[in-house]
Amino acid sequence: MPQDYTPTEKEQAFLDKVEDTQYKREIINGLAPFIGDKVPDDMRGLYSTEELVQLGGLKGTDRDVEKRMPVKITRHFFELAKTSPAIQRLVKASPDETTDLAGSEDPGNQMDYSPVEGLLHKYEMGLMYVVSTCSAHCRFCYREELIARKEVARQDGTVAKKGLAKIPEITAYIRDFNAKVAANGGVHPESGREKLREILLSGGDPMVLNNSKLAAWLAALAEAGIESIRIGTKEMAFYPKRFDPTFLAMLDDFHEAYPEVGLHMMVHFEHPDEFLAKGEDGEYLRGEHGIYQWVPDTGVAMRGLLDRGWITVENQTPIIRDINDDPDAIRIMQREMKRVGADNHYFFCGRDIVAYKAFNIPIEEAWRILNESQKGLSGVENHARLSITHYKGKTEVVAVTNEPIPGLAGSENGVVIFKLLRNAGSAPERGKVCIVGRNPDAVWFDGYDDRVLFDEAGLYEYSRVTNPSLAAT
Ligand code: SF4
Repeated sequence: MPQDYTPTEKEQAFLDKVEDTQYKREIINGLAPFIGDKVPDDMRGLYSTEELVQLGGLKGTDRDVEKRMPVKITRHFFELAKTSPAIQRLVKASPDETTDLAGSEDPGNQMDYSPVEGLLHKYEMGLMYVVSTCSAHCRFCYREELIARKEVARQDGTVAKKGLAKIPEITAYIRDFNAKVAANGGVHPESGREKLREILLSGGDPMVLNNSKLAAWLAALAEAGIESIRIGTKEMAFYPKRFDPTFLAMLDDFHEAYPEVGLHMMVHFEHPDEFLAKGEDGEYLRGEHGIYQWVPDTGVAMRGLLDRGWITVENQTPIIRDINDDPDAIRIMQREMKRVGADNHYFFCGRDIVAYKAFNIPIEEAWRILNESQKGLSGVENHARLSITHYKGKTEVVAVTNEPIPGLAGSENGVVIFKLLRNAGSAPERGKVCIVGRNPDAVWFDGYDDRVLFDEAGLYEYSRVTNPSLAAT
């Protein structure tokens, strides 16, 4: 794999215009500043003395919460947390996180699909880890193994920390893969995948990188033939001032240089408390005609993106216990996203990360909450689907019935219907379903192991790919 990368003249001309800014996120990193009373006076109350004693007592033990998932908060998010139990639950470490450490360091065995360090290539789209941190950290993070820099076992038996993507290696892989696809009539000869046309910049949060680094990725991917780039970020909630004029100018210049490349911001709001302004009484503020008022910095940041018609903004979020397992909250969120011009993408059932039992709600409950939340939403507001990520690919929880299906033994208490939305390669099994008898306690697929009624999707008869570099060429 090449170690060097030389930008083209066009790329360099774009990169030469990029301006970086120093941001003042005022981050508190770790529990030590709280335990050692080294945080600003007004932040001291985020944790009670009792909570700090408990958390401090776990330090260095198997139940050390920071070893599982680092603790971090920005000043902006702290201000929102002051009046929001949901945000506190999202960002505050809690001793129950490590009571049961069951779960996987590599949910979905994603590393089976990593042909180059830092890239997951399972579909026609690739996901890249471009950074291993964020401005603040969510306790339920699906990337805790990356953020906490844990060692992950790979299928070839090696055990190592997940590495980050590098421009020379990734662009060489994309060019090589897509050349083979083109030479073989549009399908890769070994993996059966189509052109790698879309890349998701992920991490960690790419928006903690400076504009120059982001610009270098955007331009390099465009030059390598990527058609569509997504940036997955929670920075809109943690530090909306990051979406400042220098960032927007960089995007404008990118669009001017590469107008054919689609750009999608995948934002990540769990709860309306992260973007709606509240009054002294804790109620959301409403303006003329009862329209909700946004937190000013967040409103400006969203407008900055949405005013550029060539960028799409989509929100996606897991449904997490005690954060957003509340139909009213997520109904408001879906309404507001659509009103300002953003789309509602997926709601997720929690993944089987380490300690998932502290955060995940049962699959059937997640379906009920989303379904309930979408009652009364208009057709354009209720596009979001409930997705659970199976090893085979993204799967939709389509329906949960209360009634048995006549003639179907095992359906006496009702059924859950899953549908495969995507799977590797050209998604040959897309649209296939799996029907299981209900288990209201199931938080993961294995909760239905003993009650599979119909499985054309093969969710319960799969094995891991035998070639760890299925996508490698
Ligand atoms: S922003 Fe995303 S990657 Fe960062 S801690 Fe939260 S869930 Fe994890």
